[in-house]
Amino acid sequence: MREYLERAKLMGLSIGFVPTMGALHPGHMSLIERAKRENDLVVSSIFVNPTQFGDAKDLLNYPRTPDADYELLKQHGCDMVFTPSVAEMYPDQSLIEMKFGDLEKVMEGAYRPGHFKGVATIVSRFFEIIRPNRAYFGQKDFQQLAIIKEMNEQLKTGIEIVGCATMREPDGLAMSSRNIHLSFEERKAAPVIYNSLLLASELVRINEPEEVKHTIIKIIEALGGFKVQYLEFVDSLTLKPITKWQSHADQRACIAVITSKTRLIDNVAI
Ligand code: AMP
Repeated sequence: MREYLERAKLMGLSIGFVPTMGALHPGHMSLIERAKRENDLVVSSIFVNPTQFGDAKDLLNYPRTPDADYELLKQHGCDMVFTPSVAEMYPDQSLIEMKFGDLEKVMEGAYRPGHFKGVATIVSRFFEIIRPNRAYFGQKDFQQLAIIKEMNEQLKTGIEIVGCATMREPDGLAMSSRNIHLSFEERKAAPVIYNSLLLASELVRINEPEEVKHTIIKIIEALGGFKVQYLEFVDSLTLKPITKWQSHADQRACIAVITSKTRLIDNVAI
C-alpha cells in the first residue's frame, strides 16, 4: 500500500482517504464522491476496529457486507480499498496513549469508555500508512470528527480533515450501517429522532435548554419503545454542554437513542 502510494505521490498525484467500517451505504458514498472531486486518487479502508467496541457482542454483530462494499466503491470511482487484518493493524500493544481532555468525556465518550482512544489509534495508523493529502469524515459522527481534528492537530500530520454533511433517508433518518438492526416498527418510528432535533432547533427561540431537552425526550420516548441515552446541547468546537443559549456561538444538538437491538446517534446545528 505504502509503496504504491509513494509512487503516486512522486508522480504528483493528490490522495483523498475515506476510512470506514464497511456495510457501506450512500452516506459513505457521499464522502467517496467528495474525495473524488477534490483529489487525483481516492483510497478507502474497510476495517471493523475491535478497539473502539466496548461490547464484544456489538463487535460480533456489526454488519459485514464486503462484496457489496467493493461493488459500491468501484461504481463510485474509488481507486483502492485497504482491508487489513486485525493482526496487521495491531501487531503489538501500543504504548502511545492519546488524550483528548473534555472532548472525550462527554456524550459518546461518557457512554462508550475507550471508544475514542480506539478510533484515534486506528485513524492515526491509517494516516501513517496512507499519508493522504485529505481525509474525509461524516458530521453524522460529530464528536468523532472533533476528536480526529484534535488528534490531527496534536500529531501535526499536515493532513486536511474534511467534515461532510449527514446523508439521510427520504424520511429524515440519518443513514447508518446500524439501521438494518431496526425492527419494522422501529424503522417506521425512527424519523422522530431527526424531526425532534429539528423541533429543538425551533424551540430554542422560546425555551431554555433544559426545557427543550425535557420536551424532546418525552416526544421520542412516547414512540416505538425508544430510550434516549443522552441529548446534549453543546458548543460545536469545545463540545462543552450549554446551559444557556448563546446567540453568537455555533451550537449543536447531539443525541443517542437505544432501540431493541441497536443504538442510533444523530445531531443537528442549533
Ligand atoms: P462508519 O463506517 O460508520 O465508521 O463510517 C465511516 C465514515 O462515514 C465516518 O466518517 C462516518 O461519519 C461517515 N458516515 C456514516 N454515515 C454517514 C451519513 N449518513 N452521512 C455522511 N457520512 C456518514
